[in-house]
Amino acid sequence: MGCCGDKTGKVRKLAEIGASYVRLGTDALRITKPYKHTEERLDICRGCDDSTWMSLREYEAYLVANGITEIIENIDCLEKLPSPPKNPYSKKRRRLVCMLCKCLLRVKAGRGKNRCNAGKWDKLSE
Ligand code: SF4
Repeated sequence: MGCCGDKTGKVRKLAEIGASYVRLGTDALRITKPYKHTEERLDICRGCDDSTWMSLREYEAYLVANGITEIIENIDCLEKLPSPPKNPYSKKRRRLVCMLCKCLLRVKAGRGKNRCNAGKWDKLSE
């Protein structure tokens, strides 16, 4: 028997890995200075048809449901994954997610070298 134990243990471990991935991204932003156009990028994303609102728990569940191992291996090309559902903002759903690249947009927009897959950030100067 591996370190995960039974099937329930494996599912729980996958969820923990998913949660770690999400926290890793958000923690990294807290310790690095955000990109100067972060908020302008997020304004564009808020008005984009390809964005959706999710809770952190929903996002973690989405990652786990789509195979966290595969996600980690293909972290630069998550476009292949099925899109999460389109949700409106609510008190419970406060994380903006891109339905094309599946990224948490607060994390993605905060890194200058990242690009919008639809080219919608290109009009912002460097
Ligand atoms: S990154 Fe681009 S495609 Fe994705 S939600 Fe933002 S503007 Fe839309």
